[in-house]
Amino acid sequence: MSKFLNLKKYLDKKNCLKIICGANNEDYDEIKKIVALYSKAGCRFFDINASYEAYNSSLEGLKFSNCLDDNHFICISVGVDDDVHFRKCLIDEKICNKCGLCADNCLQKAISDFKINEKKCIGCGSCMENCPSGAILSYQTGKDFNEFNDLFLKVDCVEFHISSSNIDEIKAKWQNLISSFDGLISICINRAIFSEKSMLELIHYLIKTHPDIMIQADGKSMSGSCDDYNTTLQAVAFGDLLKKTQINCPIFISGGTNSKTKELLNILSVDIDGISIGSYARKIVKDYIERDDFWNNKDVFYAALEIAKKFVYKITQNN
Ligand code: SF4
Ligand code: SF4
Repeated sequence: MSKFLNLKKYLDKKNCLKIICGANNEDYDEIKKIVALYSKAGCRFFDINASYEAYNSSLEGLKFSNCLDDNHFICISVGVDDDVHFRKCLIDEKICNKCGLCADNCLQKAISDFKINEKKCIGCGSCMENCPSGAILSYQTGKDFNEFNDLFLKVDCVEFHISSSNIDEIKAKWQNLISSFDGLISICINRAIFSEKSMLELIHYLIKTHPDIMIQADGKSMSGSCDDYNTTLQAVAFGDLLKKTQINCPIFISGGTNSKTKELLNILSVDIDGISIGSYARKIVKDYIERDDFWNNKDVFYAALEIAKKFVYKITQNN
């Protein structure tokens, strides 16, 4: 069976889990560790930055855990130019008062000595929101899809982020994408950007022009740092809305997803095909994967693996 069919079969199972390493996360060492850990813990689907370095790191992670096979899937994230998933932040040192609040609020631990490590920054914006001096700026890092042509031939899925209201740009990029990639496309859509009518019109247009899609309903992008119902509620509500429109493709939810997401889906009887989890999944193992002895000290790796396994089980168990 081809790998594409394996992926479609996996999505048919429901209770799927996609671990998000971060669309704009260029910390390749972290990507390798996250993929190694969560594939060993039972996750089969990973979402990574669209770069050869991130792709190779993900393969190394799968290889480490003996999961480099036709049943583990890699998705790369691409998007339109003003999408928040493709921004990074920097500190204006002339304005910074060196209070340190930004570093305290950075889940990626990308800030030290009042500087942001560009590779680690995922553009979540938490530092900007917490800076009392307005010293943090953001910039976009979008790339031309032509840069990924060879990568499109290797990956199992491409995630197309459309948290932008520029429909013409979305359609132009989409046409560019589907002329270069003929596999499964995950459409990651931000509910806050569109009216229900314009969102559904857009989804129908995308499905009509490329039927092999899944949709990732993005509640509050990159906000999964808290483990409570409130953080995950928006994603659950959005997934419910899409399910009720009976769009005929797998529906995942993301954005604020955490260990309460599955529980909330069950309480509210929302029938979803899969949950994509990024910030929270990385946060719970962060202290371990940051250690230099992660690969060599079995106690460290297995302590992180226990956490990952419990989490994967909680998200993927049957109701
Ligand atoms: S929160 Fe703002 S003012 Fe404080 S250290 Fe960070 S950039 Fe500087
Ligand atoms: S808080 Fe978010 S946006 Fe700010 S440096 Fe950290 S990862 Fe980047």
